Amino acid sequence: MRAVVHTSHGEPSVLRAVSLPDPVPGPSEVLVAVRAAALNRLDLLQRRGPGLLPGFALPHVPGMDVAGEIVSPGPRHGERVVVNPALPCGRCELCLAGDDTFCGAMRIVGGNRQGGYAELLAVPALHVHPIPDGVSYEEAAGLPTVYGTAWQALVVRGGLRRGETVLIHGAGSGLSIAAAQIAARLGATVIVTSGSPDKLSRMAGIGVPHLIDHRTQDLGSAVRDLTGGRGADLVFDHVGPALFDRSLAALRLRGRMVFCGNTTGTHVSLDLVDAFRRGITLIGAESYGTAEFGRMLSWYWTAGCKPVADSVHGLDDAAQAHIRIRPHLTPRSPLTRGVSRTIPPNVAGNATTQRGSSPAWGGGATSGGGVRRRRRRTR
Ligand SMILES: [Zn+2]
Repeated sequence: MRAVVHTSHGEPSVLRAVSLPDPVPGPSEVLVAVRAAALNRLDLLQRRGPGLLPGFALPHVPGMDVAGEIVSPGPRHGERVVVNPALPCGRCELCLAGDDTFCGAMRIVGGNRQGGYAELLAVPALHVHPIPDGVSYEEAAGLPTVYGTAWQALVVRGGLRRGETVLIHGAGSGLSIAAAQIAARLGATVIVTSGSPDKLSRMAGIGVPHLIDHRTQDLGSAVRDLTGGRGADLVFDHVGPALFDRSLAALRLRGRMVFCGNTTGTHVSLDLVDAFRRGITLIGAESYGTAEFGRMLSWYWTAGCKPVADSVHGLDDAAQAHIRIRPHLTPRSPLTRGVSRTIPPNVAGNATTQRGSSPAWGGGATSGGGVRRRRRRTR
């Protein structure tokens, strides 16, 4: 099969399209002919190096978010599917207890095993989900990591409820776009922040009603202005220290802050007195588990969300996709599994550019590129 690998760390030029042996699926696995793969933040970080996930090894085929068609024999042959990239062992105590997000033997497609920048991918059948008619491979490939992560943080851990106000940082990122879409569809009022007027205008373009430029506006005051002086019920953060204090200032009494990323660092200082006097709740959102991913998908298929591809690249042009998204990579961003591992969902098409082309709340303006197989393959 054709695949894109890097045998060393470095600039996008380390990505090379090569021929590799076809993967051989194990007894509980299916073979998927990859039709589209999104470019994920982890792809860039691990290409730049060092490898971040336990078990990462060179040469490496990136690509966490994958959609395609099952081509191995069996009852599911020909099924259009999307892959949940998080593959717990299924045998340890945590997995058997249904808490597999903490599995110590977790493997991640495109993270510490072969990813989707390839014509073929072998994955456990349990983690391969059918795509409904009318959903393109490109859309399906754009959703697993960002919607799974946003769902876990907002809904499962953050407990977002209809009628609440949620403050979402990081306008323009795939994760923030997913979070904004989920929150709006659950009946919450959405406020999105960024330090980039361009990213804010793109969020406005997809229908986000309330936008704050945190470089020119006082975040706490701006949020209170938008909430009748009350403050936000929930802050959704994957930025980290850069906005931590201001996020707390924007919360209402007994407000919650859920965090699932740390692109600006790993440590903050907390005024304990302020936090307990105001009844603030801080919530760390771990990665989603297998069952929760299934619940998210079931909801997603009927919710009308839609990731938007910024640009489309053939498999052989993966390096160009990485170059396109490079400005969004912060220097030496720390990253662990399940934490801020996303860059906008970008995929597919025919090497065309689609920017913000979907209707209001139909998707997110994203940046960067993704890769897609040029040639369909059947076997
Ligand atoms: Zn396990």
